[in-house]
Amino acid sequence: MEGIQMVDLIGQHLKIENELREAMGRVLATGAFVKGPEVHAFAEELAEFTGSKHVIPCGNGTDALQIAMMALGIGPGDEVITTGFTFISTVEVVALLGAKPVLVDIDPDSFTIDAVQVEEAITERTKAIVPVHLFGQMADMTALAAISRKHNIPIIEDNAQAIGAQWTDDSGKMHQSGTIGLLGTTSFFPSKNLGCMGDGGAVVTQDEKMAAACRQIANHGMSKQYHHDVVGINSRLDGLQAAILRVKLRHLPRYIAARQEAAKRYDRMLQDVKGITIPKRTENSTHVFHQYTIRVEASRRDSMREHLKSQGIPTGVYYPIPGHAQKAFASFGYETSRFRESSHAASEVLSLPMHTELNEEQQSFICDAIHIFV
Ligand SMILES: *Cc1c(COP(=O)(O)O)cnc(C)c1O
Repeated sequence: MEGIQMVDLIGQHLKIENELREAMGRVLATGAFVKGPEVHAFAEELAEFTGSKHVIPCGNGTDALQIAMMALGIGPGDEVITTGFTFISTVEVVALLGAKPVLVDIDPDSFTIDAVQVEEAITERTKAIVPVHLFGQMADMTALAAISRKHNIPIIEDNAQAIGAQWTDDSGKMHQSGTIGLLGTTSFFPSKNLGCMGDGGAVVTQDEKMAAACRQIANHGMSKQYHHDVVGINSRLDGLQAAILRVKLRHLPRYIAARQEAAKRYDRMLQDVKGITIPKRTENSTHVFHQYTIRVEASRRDSMREHLKSQGIPTGVYYPIPGHAQKAFASFGYETSRFRESSHAASEVLSLPMHTELNEEQQSFICDAIHIFV
């Protein structure tokens, strides 16, 4: 079978081509290429979607993390507790700001940060806790929010992979991912669940002061034109991306449903296959399936990958080297023995094609190839 892709953006965009062209045409006509009315409207629409009061659009998801950390004043001498089983950005920005990334291991079922170990890692230098809602499922926000309250340490949710996921708290109330912590950050990189056609990101918060600080930092630390009160950065969303995101945000609920349907089909086709483990769902989070990630015995993972590749089936390994083992962070001296689950996961995970256009026929082909291999 031809044309199976990890992500099929061309197929997705073809179905909404008229809407996209109309949106891009509006930007061409107004000439508001950086910031401007489309960016403003998108921020309002995303605020409405997430139920968060403030949305600060910015250049990408990495910047969003950096802006959030700068708004908390994180710098040299500070510690930030997070997970190394993530895309590099989450850990990188902590190091970039001169602070120490304090990495803890993950819960093997959800691949997200282990809340018990988070509490154990707290010191008087801890300035933030950064859970990552990996693959589309949220970290244990009930436990983390309790730890945050008890120790008075803010949470920044790295929500680059789980926009639209929801958490049910102990009272039964649902919360959108990214809105439980003091700050939430996200990315609109094209392959993310809400992606644009270039780079984009945002910080969300309910807190007025944090919102003002983030806005100022993202705009060169400027209070009014050419008055720079703090050292900031240059991080903006452009008009074209915002116009595209406004269109795609309208379709996001449908896109999430399509991913969840595809995940159910994979579950059904793979549940009885020996030697692989299908993704576990946690109790309180919905799963928006940024990735459909199975576990395969470490000794066979790479050969399964090769086999699938030979059948024209792409796969991904997210992530092959956890943060604690990255050369860039060697100076922090992480002890490998403390990251048993992250290391296991790194050698066992295999992400299968997952996107809004994936159909049953393609999935049968993929799952048959897996069957034959095992
Ligand atoms: C994609 C991603 C980021 C970074 O987003 P960019 O827009 O690429 O900078 C950060 N954290 C996680 C978990 C991601 O998946």
